[in-house]
Amino acid sequence: MFHKILIANRGEIALRVLRAAKELGIKTVAVHSTADADAMHVKLADESVCVGPPPSRDSYLNIHQIVAACEITGADAIHPGYGFLSENAKFADILAAHNITFIGPSGDHIRVMGDKIEAKRTAKRLGIPVVPGSEGAVTDEDTARRIAAEIGYPVIIKASAGGGGRGMKVARDEEDLSVALATARSEAGAAFGDDAVYIEKYLEKPRHIEIQVVGDGRGGSVHLGERDCSLQRRHQKVWEEANSPALNDEERARIGDICARAVADLGYSGAGTVEFLYENGNFYFIEMNTRLQVEHPVTEAITGIDLVHEQIRVASGAGLSVTQDEVRFEGHAIECRINAEDPRTFVPSPGTITHFHTPGGLGIRVDSGVYSGYKIPPYYDSLIGKLIVHGRNRVECMMRLRRALDEFVVDGINTTLPLFRDLVGNIDIANGDYDIHWLENYLAAKD
Ligand code: ADP
Repeated sequence: MFHKILIANRGEIALRVLRAAKELGIKTVAVHSTADADAMHVKLADESVCVGPPPSRDSYLNIHQIVAACEITGADAIHPGYGFLSENAKFADILAAHNITFIGPSGDHIRVMGDKIEAKRTAKRLGIPVVPGSEGAVTDEDTARRIAAEIGYPVIIKASAGGGGRGMKVARDEEDLSVALATARSEAGAAFGDDAVYIEKYLEKPRHIEIQVVGDGRGGSVHLGERDCSLQRRHQKVWEEANSPALNDEERARIGDICARAVADLGYSGAGTVEFLYENGNFYFIEMNTRLQVEHPVTEAITGIDLVHEQIRVASGAGLSVTQDEVRFEGHAIECRINAEDPRTFVPSPGTITHFHTPGGLGIRVDSGVYSGYKIPPYYDSLIGKLIVHGRNRVECMMRLRRALDEFVVDGINTTLPLFRDLVGNIDIANGDYDIHWLENYLAAKD
């Protein structure tokens, strides 16, 4: 087992990793920018190292400083959390060259899944169902027109290097196609320095359903069921739940087994998420994330499995703590992402939290790095905490969530808590009856 883990992240996820390491008796090193000297993850770690000024590219993305911090403190492994360096193949390669264990998959696996055309090709080869579309990159209009006619309109043009919902354009008919192709390519080039795009059938009313997998790197793997992340704003997830209100046990087992087998065949090591759009009973692969995700706690709530423990175990060579037969899905869990943002305009709201009170009681978990008197710096994303609620079934979970949201107090800044208080009383949400467009439509109707 590792002796000391450096956590190359900040905020709630740095604390999340720190807690898992402490439970396993592993020492922790926090890294931080000058703007985060007072952060909770710095206060709770055994040691801390300042790695640079506030901008992420100079601190949390500064590979040289982070490797140096490892060497100074004698850390033998790095957990990257999510975001920042978590899906940076070069970082994984550099750590391997320095004999520091990257708690995550190999650089090669990150690279394959980071290129969406390559990821889709790999998924298809492994027997995962994909969205109908082009086999590879599409550069000229004639090819685009031929493929679009084959799969049928509407189609979506997507950047191979895409992420965060950028570089996507929908074409409703042949007339839209040339503009969509040109804009998608130029946006992709500007945003990612790579203008390769591909074409997919545009699904009109899908849900976003993703499968959590963990591979041991030696041909073993488990799946931990699905999360439904259909409630999104600008392709950013807002509310996630497990199980999905839309899946039955047979569908879960079928798609779960396909994903588990695929990561086993890849020899994949660590936690990963296979993301799908789901429509009319069919799954369509869109991408694989090769890291721990923000919404992982809903899976932990219904399985009782600590995903960070599993990541650390697998990276250290100790293997998985469970077999597929031992995985049980108990009850229902919902996560609300609480952002420091105006609940209507979503404009970020940094500043000092004058009072912070979290709800408690049976089935309630709050993962947050903030506290009363904490000043939110303006440099990073606006997530200040996650409320995760578990109940024996969805009805109980919703009742408990409503109560927990009432108890939650964050004073001094704006947060998205009022949005969740609205959502928890909405009839469609109560019925689990929503697709990936539901939230945007709901917000537009409220304005
Ligand atoms: P990114 O990596 O930028 O997040 P994804 O491929 O994961 O891109 O897609 C993000 C979101 O875009 C999806 O959750 C879905 O809302 C929408 N989307 C992507 N592909 C399609 C498609 N073929 N049809 C309909 N919507 C899509």
